[in-house]
Amino acid sequence: MKRIAVFPGSFDPITRGHENIVRRSAKLFDEIIVAIGNNTSKQSMFSIDQRKGWVDKTFENIPNVRTEIYEGLTVDFCKKNGATFLLRGLRNGGDFEYERTIAHMNKALWNELETILVFTEPEFASVHSTVIREIIKNKGDVSQFVPQYVSIND
Ligand code: ADP
Repeated sequence: MKRIAVFPGSFDPITRGHENIVRRSAKLFDEIIVAIGNNTSKQSMFSIDQRKGWVDKTFENIPNVRTEIYEGLTVDFCKKNGATFLLRGLRNGGDFEYERTIAHMNKALWNELETILVFTEPEFASVHSTVIREIIKNKGDVSQFVPQYVSIND
């Protein structure tokens, strides 16, 4: 059976922290699906097409990584795609508490789903999409925090 992992998030925009987790984890799984949540009730800074375009470009040279847009429960998306692993990145203790809660809830919803947490590398531990969006709103330069293909002024 293929080991398929889903890496869900809003990727608004994708950061070097996300990129690092996916690149390192691509060696652990047969396939990784970067799943961009299209949450209609949550206002995003960038359109779903723009976010997907950046994620596609970032991983275009990694053959076992692909991008999908999804709506609804992450566990349902995993089931539909035959993914029994849920990949998440861990920056700090705050992330840990949050991830533990989500992992337990997801396990209760679908027992076959295993959440795999990968520690971020220290240089990315403070990289948060939320802070990046604040910098963008205030016209700051975020190039050091995002993959090289993400051109905010496109
Ligand atoms: P965030 O909320 O910070 O933007 P997303 O909702 O896009 O993140 O999160 C997708 C996943 O990426 C989560 O598991 C999150 O913990 C992880 N992640 C976000 N930023 C980093 C980072 N700098 N290093 C490692 N993992 C990260």
